[in-house]
Order: sequence, then C-alpha cells, then structure tokens
Amino acid sequence: MHSLITDNFTTKAAQEKFSKIGISHGIDLLLHFPLRYEDETHLYPIDSLSEGTIIQIEGIIIRNTVMYRPKRQLVLKIKDDSGSIFVRFINFYSSQIKTYAVGKRLRLLGEVRLGVFGAEMVHPKCRVVREGELLPDLLTPVYPTTAGLSQRTIRKLIQKILICSDWEHNLPEILPKEILKNYQLQGLKESVMFLHQPSPNTATQSLHERTHPAWQRIKFDELLAQQLSMRLHYQQRRSHTAPALPAKNKLTKALLESLSFSLTRAQKEAFSEISKDLSAAYPMQRLLQGDVGSGKTIVATLAALQAIENGYQVAIMVPTEILAEQHYQKLSGWLEPIFLSLGMTIVCLFGNQKKSQRKAALIAIAKGNAMLSIGTHALFQEQAEFNNLGLAIIDEQHRFGVNQRLALRAKSAKINLTPHQLAMSATPIPRTLAMSYYADLDVSVINELPPGRTQITTKLFSNTRREEVISRIKEACDEGKQAYWVCPLIEESETLQLRTALETYATLSLIFTNLRIGIVHGRLPSQEKLAVMELFRQGDIQLLIATTVIEVGVDVPNASIMVIEHAERMGLSQLHQLRGRIGRGIDASICILLYQKPLSITAKERLKIIFENTNGFEIARHDLRLRGPGEFLGARQSGETMLRFADTERDENLLNNACDAAEKILCNDPDLAKNHIRRWLKGKGEYLQV
Ligand code: ADP
Ligand code: MG
Repeated sequence: MHSLITDNFTTKAAQEKFSKIGISHGIDLLLHFPLRYEDETHLYPIDSLSEGTIIQIEGIIIRNTVMYRPKRQLVLKIKDDSGSIFVRFINFYSSQIKTYAVGKRLRLLGEVRLGVFGAEMVHPKCRVVREGELLPDLLTPVYPTTAGLSQRTIRKLIQKILICSDWEHNLPEILPKEILKNYQLQGLKESVMFLHQPSPNTATQSLHERTHPAWQRIKFDELLAQQLSMRLHYQQRRSHTAPALPAKNKLTKALLESLSFSLTRAQKEAFSEISKDLSAAYPMQRLLQGDVGSGKTIVATLAALQAIENGYQVAIMVPTEILAEQHYQKLSGWLEPIFLSLGMTIVCLFGNQKKSQRKAALIAIAKGNAMLSIGTHALFQEQAEFNNLGLAIIDEQHRFGVNQRLALRAKSAKINLTPHQLAMSATPIPRTLAMSYYADLDVSVINELPPGRTQITTKLFSNTRREEVISRIKEACDEGKQAYWVCPLIEESETLQLRTALETYATLSLIFTNLRIGIVHGRLPSQEKLAVMELFRQGDIQLLIATTVIEVGVDVPNASIMVIEHAERMGLSQLHQLRGRIGRGIDASICILLYQKPLSITAKERLKIIFENTNGFEIARHDLRLRGPGEFLGARQSGETMLRFADTERDENLLNNACDAAEKILCNDPDLAKNHIRRWLKGKGEYLQV
C-alpha cells in the first residue's frame, strides 16, 4: 500500500501530524472515517432557518461594526432575498474587518441561535464568494484531526487515495460471502467509498447516528476484530505454562473449619471455579466480581491457601495502604493459627514501614518462607523478588493501571512459569461490556450478600439542612454507634481537598465536643493512617472524618452511619463504593448524602439513581449509560479505546453477530482472523494481555 512517506503529496511536517492521529499508511487513511458531515450542497433562505439547526446560507454584508459591549466583537449583518441575520465573531483578526466589508457576498455555514438582536450565527464557517459560485455536490466530511492539520489537507489526501487505490490489492474484501450474507452486510469498498463521500440525498440522520448500512459494515468489522483478538489472547494464554496447583483440601479445610461463618452458595461456587482453574497447568486469568461486601476476601484467601498447600507463594496486591493493612490484619487472624505450626509467615509491605521491617519482609519473600505477602502495587513492583510465585491476587482491580498489572505478572519470570492471576472487583460488568472488552477473561460472580446484612437507608439532604444531619449524628454516636463523615472530593487539587478535610475536622470537632473524633486522609504518614483506622476499628474513635481514601475495601462492621458531603460531585461507582463501607454489621445503617444546589442534570440523575438503587449491578448499568464505556473501563484501556466507531451498548446486535462470526472464523480460517485483526487494530490488542 502506498506509504505517505514516499508520497510527494505531503510534507514531512504533515507526515508527522498524520502519524499523531495514527495514520502512516494509505490504508489508515481509508479507514479514517469522518466524525460528521456538513451539508454545503444547498443554500437555504435566511427566513427559513430554525433555531439549533446547522445550515448553509449566502447573502450580502449590509453592516459591519466592531462592538465593545459586553465584549469586543465583530458583528456583521447579512441579507438575502428573504431576510437577514447577524453574525458575531468574538475572536477576530483586524484583517477580517476588511475582508468582510459591506457589499461583499458571504457564504456561511453554522448553527442558528437566537441572540439578543434576533437570529444569529456565532463564529460560522464562512468565506467571501462570487455570485453564482458552484456548490459541492457531495456532503463535506469532517475528520478527526490534530492541531495544524487542516480538514482540507486530510480531505484532499483521502480523495486522492480513494481514486488511485488498487482496492483488490490494498483493501480487499476478506470476509467470506456467507458471513456477509448471514449478517446482511454491505461490501467493504462500497462502504468505505460511501462514508468518505456520501451523496446529499442520504438521510443525514442515518449518517450521524451511524445506522446507515455503510456504518454498520464498518462497525461490524471493528467489533469482529475486537472479538477475534480477545479470543486469540485467550487461546494464547492457554499455551503458557503455569504451576498446576490442585486442591489438596488441607489448609483450605482447616480455614473453613475455623471460620465463625459458613460460605454462601455463591462464594462456594466462585471458589470451586477458581480451584479448578488453579489445578490446570496454564495460567488462570479470572475476575472475581461481587458487589461491595459480598465477601470476596475469604474466597481469595481460600484460593491463596490452595496455592500455598502446593508449596507456591501468593501475593495480594491492593491499591491503598489502608487496605493493605486491613487485609494483613484480617488474613493474619485467619491464617496465623494454621501457618504457625508449619513455620510459614505472612508479610506486609507498605509505605513508611521501618527499614529493618521492610528488609526482613523482602528477604522472607525472596527466600520463600513468606508464603503470603500483601502490599501496595508500588512496593511489589519496585522491590519484591519472589522465590516461587504461583498466584497473584489483585484486589479492586479497576483501580490499577495496565502496566502495574503486567509488572506483577513479570515477577515470576524467573521460574519460567506464569503465575495464575485472580483479579477482584466490586464493579460489575454489564453484559455488553463482558461480551466485548472482557471477553478474554473468565468471570466468577458472587451474586448474593452474606446473610444477616441490614438494608442501608439512603437519604438525600440539601446542604441547608446540615444542622439536622449534625444532630442525628450526635444522637447516633451517643447511642454507641460509629460514623464516617466523608469530605468532598476536589478533583482539581489534592492540596485543596486536604485543606477542606482539615477544615471539616476542625469545625466538627467544635460541634461534637463530647465525641472522640479522628481524621484520615491520603497525606497522613502511613503509620498514623493505620493507627487511626485501628482506633476506629476498635471503637475508640466514634466519628471518623475521611477523604475518599476510605473508598475501597475498608471493613469496619460496627460503623453504621455515613455522611457524604457534596455527594453531587462524586461518580456513581464511587458513591456506591463509599456507601458499601456501612451496612456490614448488625445495626440498621443509614447513608446521608449532602448536596449543594444548584445541581446539574447529570448530578441530579446520579443522586436519583444512588438513592433508588442499592444493587451494584443496576448502578453499573446506569453508570455505563451515563458515561459510556471509555470512562467505565478506566485503566484497562489505557486511554486508547479499542473501538473507534462501534458502541457496545447501542450496537448490541452487531456485537452479537460479531461474536458468532468470530467463533466461526477462528474455527475455519485462523489466517483470516489474523489478517482482519491487523487491518483494524494495529497495535491496540496488546493491552488485552492483562
Ligand atoms: P468485599 O467483597 O467487599 O471485599 P469483604 O470480603 O470485605 O467484602 O467481606 C465483607 C464482610 O463480610 C467481612 O467482614 C467478611 O468477614 C464478612 N463475610 C464474608 N463472607 C461471609 C459469610 N459467608 N457470612 C458472613 N459474613 C461473611
Ligand atoms: Mg474487598
């Protein structure tokens, strides 16, 4: 295929710009589809315009003034046979005042708005024309671009390539006829040609909403590439070797017998799936998904014991120090009696640990007497060398970046075996995402909560009713209950967030003079952070002022009240996670969401959703609808979404078809699968390996 490099059409500078938007070959250009289209094929009479439409008009400039109020701006008045309209430029060059002189004929394309003086266009696309100047006969595509690369340049280059491409050679139809027929797909060349230069009679809505058959074909291809790549990774993983860690039912049985509770049906099922995976000689890559408080930790601990009873080490990686410490305590409580007689130890790695302690832990990990280690990712990444890591457990996996997860896996390269991996998350995956972005993972779901949990009542209070909230907290704490007071999230600045937390602490200390109050935030030295959490756990602190550091994993069953300030600033999953810190004990729990008016539409919607739902799955479904998959997937996609055109929610039908087709293709023609992936994904599939 022609490379842009040898194409004398562009300069070197332009080539660099193109590569910035992922284009280095002609084929990339062909598959660089417009974001939208502008209809410059018609001129509309000015008096026919309605507000909010984007439309092209032409007329004579009858007024040209620079106004200074409310802001310096250039205002034109344009007139055609039917009426007149104002045009405003808030930013303009002085040369424009001359270019748009009274009497000139101007052709404009822009959105019609209702301004102070009547109908107006602000910063339309416009140029001076001669009377009768020809109109284009195709819709004008608008492409994704980058600074310094004009639409004109992209358009010209794409036009050129459309004309001189040897399609058979460069972009042949590789999908078999039956597939095209089965799923009613239009030809590839036809679709590509059409999307770059659609005729003006096309229903523009079908172009914008991407329901047109040409778009359907492109989206299908893209989804198919994603499916194929996921499945190939899945297969490839099975070709790696992992230590086989079959169930021996010794340590696991001992733990189960020592627990004060028995596992729920869902926990048992999840563990049996994990247990089976561990016994295979290829690496498990399983996601254990269960709502906040569903009891994932004990399942993970059982998995750890199965590895340990086979003589392999286990690492548990968590996103925060508070969580590392909490797991360390909990797991020590469960496991020390079992480990003690066997001479095994558990170690914990966290930030401000004493040097000597850290060193001892690292040695124990390297030598292999520390069978279980718990810590934050940073520490594992930088310092730990395992003797024989058999299983890596990643708690709250949605909080980790891709590279952090890859790094832990690489830790065991020494023994030439890939460790098994168990990821845990409370963020449920809606069906379409599970089918698409997560198709390479096996998933176990804990879909019930342990018995005896109390419902959490959620209340919404405007900030004006703060007093009322304060007196409720006072009463509850006087009755011996414990509460969290969560400070507002301030995204722009961590310093500001800290300041707010300290201020809240100061104010509340003055109000609740007879309560024992503590504060925990991200900047507190680790030891202090842990000490505060410990005091709270033991009931010595009654009211804990906290930033969102307590968002994940924290488990203090006696705490039954939570106040969240500025709840309108928080995302759905964050609110759900935070609220999940309560409702863990025997006391009826209450979560008070304080909000500040005015509320944006989405904020209002979020608060309504969190108020009405306690089921994490429902909340996640709403979240996906509100935010789209890019946000939802977070770190997993490392910013670059694999799907540029398709939308798994809206294109569920195509996704189903692509799933079907992928299965057939992999079975019948693996080479075709690889070609198709190469065409559509270039390097993007790599991120799937984690
Ligand atoms: P999460 O899934 O959010 O990580 P945890 O593992 O922290 O939840 O469990 C929440 C609490 O429930 C813990 O205190 C845990 O000991 C307890 N728990 C777990 N499983 C059961 C069970 N089957 N019966 C009763 N309590 C349980
Ligand atoms: Mg947890």
